Amino acid sequence: MAKILVTGGLGYIGSHTVVELQQNGYEVVIVDNLSNSEIKVLDGIEAITGIRPHFEQLDICDDKAFQVCLTKHNGIDAVIHFAASKAVGESVEKSLDYYRNNVYGLIQLLTLMRKNDIKHIIFSSSCTVYGQAEQLPIDETAPRQTATSPYGNTKQMCEDIIRDAIISYHDFNAILLRYFNPIGAHPSAMIGELPKGVPNNLVPYITQTAAGLRKELSVFGDDYNTPDGSAIRDYIYVVDLAKAHVKAMQRLLSGSNKSDCEIFNLGTGSGVSVLELVNTFMEATGVNLPYKIVGRRAGDIEQVWADSSYAEKELGWTAKTPLAEVLNSAWNWEKKVRNIQ
Ligand code: NAD
Ligand code: UDP
Repeated sequence: MAKILVTGGLGYIGSHTVVELQQNGYEVVIVDNLSNSEIKVLDGIEAITGIRPHFEQLDICDDKAFQVCLTKHNGIDAVIHFAASKAVGESVEKSLDYYRNNVYGLIQLLTLMRKNDIKHIIFSSSCTVYGQAEQLPIDETAPRQTATSPYGNTKQMCEDIIRDAIISYHDFNAILLRYFNPIGAHPSAMIGELPKGVPNNLVPYITQTAAGLRKELSVFGDDYNTPDGSAIRDYIYVVDLAKAHVKAMQRLLSGSNKSDCEIFNLGTGSGVSVLELVNTFMEATGVNLPYKIVGRRAGDIEQVWADSSYAEKELGWTAKTPLAEVLNSAWNWEKKVRNIQ
């Protein structure tokens, strides 16, 4: 049974991935500093899988504590690296914090991987690296564009650092996963997204509005060049996304990767507008959602969706969970968190 180190494994995508890894027989060691997650997520994972993953509370930038952890849990076969700060707006305010956590954190991780003879890494990248692509859907050959935020820049820099590390130290290999818009929660409602404060993202804002915590949703813009005027994204179910990590891990560990640094887009292949998503939420849950149209949000792009055919061909993976089911899972999670019957 391979042993996988999951950085940021108590976070939103990390916790769902830990569940899938355990359900596929992997032993999991989580490191997380709880800067954007809560310790009770461990209970949620255990409630689903019946197995409590190993957990070490530490900051990946703290190389001494990290080395102690790697010595304690020796024999790690591979790493999935989720730990990072992810709020685009905050990254503009606190750029140095973002470069430190995301870029320096990765450098520390790769340095310790070398020292401890760990050769495989899966990295959480983002479709933000593509900006507003000229051609839709976006495949992996689309050029990256100049980042519009420090957060986006850290993703590009981290991709480059991993690529360069592979060139320098030949025994490394990596899979870079570029996520589109992850949404939803585990069907058990034992784990889900736990945003701190007012959510920036669309789906948590919707579920919090439906739960009565927010007065109404603001739809940012109805004057885009799209069929209904609202912006279009590729919303991917977090459980489908988590399963892609298992496929990527199987590929790395079996040596069936085609190069030392592979890139996969992870999306559904379909674009959904903000207004379509709002209407699907109301139809799927039967809950009325108050909303108003306001101006565009600064920095937003008009439309993106993935061409995920490479992931389908090479990983044997697709994201097929219907949007209504995904939005219901998000609502069930919100109800559980807020104690709504
Ligand atoms: P999240 O904030 O829920 O999870 C990140 C976890 O990492 C948190 O539990 C946090 O406490 C931990 N962490 C952060 N810095 C750390 C550090 N220095 N040391 C130890 N732990 C640390 O975020 P998420 O949505 O699960 O995202 C996971 C990864 O996927 C991130 O790298 C993010 O940039 C990337 N990503 C997310 C999205 C998205 O929309 N959620 C989209 C594309 C890419
Ligand atoms: N959005 C919105 N109202 C909100 C939050 C988001 O209309 O309160 C829109 C946003 O402008 C974008 C889409 O929803 O078009 C997805 O935004 P999110 O922040 O979830 O993800 P992004 O694609 O920006 O990473």
